[in-house]
Amino acid sequence: MMNPPEYNVTGIDYSRREHFVYRGPIIDIHAHVTLTRPADAPAGKEPASIGQAESMLQTGREFGIVHTTSMCPPEDIAPLRERFGGKLTFNGPISKKTFDEQDDAAYGLLERFLQAGVKIIKYWSAPRGRERGLFVDAPWRMECTRRAIAAGIRIFMVHVADPDVWFGKVYADSAKFGTKTDQYAGLERMLQLFPNVTWIGAHMGGDSEHPDHLEALLEKHPNLCFDTSATKWQVREVSPRRAAIRSLVCRYPDRFLFGTDLVTRHELVREHYVSRYWCQRTLWESSWEEPSPIADPDYTPQEGGAPTPILRGVGLPLDVLDQVYYANAERLLGMT
Ligand SMILES: [Zn+2]
Repeated sequence: MMNPPEYNVTGIDYSRREHFVYRGPIIDIHAHVTLTRPADAPAGKEPASIGQAESMLQTGREFGIVHTTSMCPPEDIAPLRERFGGKLTFNGPISKKTFDEQDDAAYGLLERFLQAGVKIIKYWSAPRGRERGLFVDAPWRMECTRRAIAAGIRIFMVHVADPDVWFGKVYADSAKFGTKTDQYAGLERMLQLFPNVTWIGAHMGGDSEHPDHLEALLEKHPNLCFDTSATKWQVREVSPRRAAIRSLVCRYPDRFLFGTDLVTRHELVREHYVSRYWCQRTLWESSWEEPSPIADPDYTPQEGGAPTPILRGVGLPLDVLDQVYYANAERLLGMT
């Protein structure tokens, strides 16, 4: 028997949408819409294709997504903008490829993104990036932040930490990767150093396992928001503590932003995109209680239980959904 596809391990009918209660527009603040090439194509041979971006954004439209903020290479911005116009804004990720790469390479990349008119600058700073020196508060990132602010950037996105379960497995060597708590020191430093811009902590600030920690961060740093992206992770960790997460989002409704973390890839089928939009909306706006349709290698099934975690909908009230799905991002991106 063939394994079921990762985007639908339970054989769910994704046309079931009667549980969607929200009728307004949605902004996806965290996605990776790029041009794509076959993974096995020799570099520079195969022309980049816009087809996956078309497929993803068309699918998003079905789910109410009217605008998406994309992280993509700087050279993809012009062709994507030409094709999709005002449906996209851009977020420029600034990293180094190797530990030894010169700071000037990062500044050059920042310059290209600024020239291309990005709205957000992103610092990916997961524990596995430490070997490359990708600390969120690395001196060259501080300098990038100063330069970006001087050029008019008012929003920065960071990826700090990773799921709790990873710290017991891939990051078990805490001398190398740091503890989960360690991941937040650099972020807090940046929040304090640059208080007059907005910081978005990607993937529920990297800590949906601990709503109390998220609340402490929100309380302490008025310039911090979180996005809801990384669908598998949020389904797995928000579901078992949905009451606490609901309460948190309802008490800070202007500090959360809808995001998917969908990535265009050359071989993806449309239903992959469907699965993430469907699960995100199901998680935030319904009271759904069934095994998640998405394969999740980080989930340890109970004996005799379902192979995927139970997706338990948070059921946010409509006025809160309006803020999280749309109004907060609209305000931040200056679309009003
Ligand atoms: Zn992402």
